[in-house]
Amino acid sequence: MSRAHRLRQTIRQRLEAQIRQLEAELAHFDAWSIAQLGFGHSLVDDASVAFDQATQLTLRQKTEQRLRQLRQALERLEAGVYGVCEGCGTAINPERLLARLDARLCVSCQRLQERSPLGRLATMQAPA
Ligand SMILES: [Zn+2]
Repeated sequence: MSRAHRLRQTIRQRLEAQIRQLEAELAHFDAWSIAQLGFGHSLVDDASVAFDQATQLTLRQKTEQRLRQLRQALERLEAGVYGVCEGCGTAINPERLLARLDARLCVSCQRLQERSPLGRLATMQAPA
């Protein structure tokens, strides 16, 4: 088995494992929301429940977004375009991919993108 093939296998397994885990988390959020319905609460409880629900909703949205990104990464893997930088078209470093499975940019392009907001230009330093 070639190194590239092995890497692909590893990444596919990790992507699938993370997707399964996030799907389980989403199911947990839904179960939690249902459990909150139909209970009688005092006013204090209602306030804290409302707060909890807002927090849970934010978490749920983040989990959904992450799940979408991982599914897209898996689609790119299936389509054979995974691991190619969308900024410059070069192959993304395998170590970076393993650390961040849904990376779409190589380190250089990622740095450029992070620097681009106008507010940061004034303090921008030349790379050492
Ligand atoms: Zn790039």
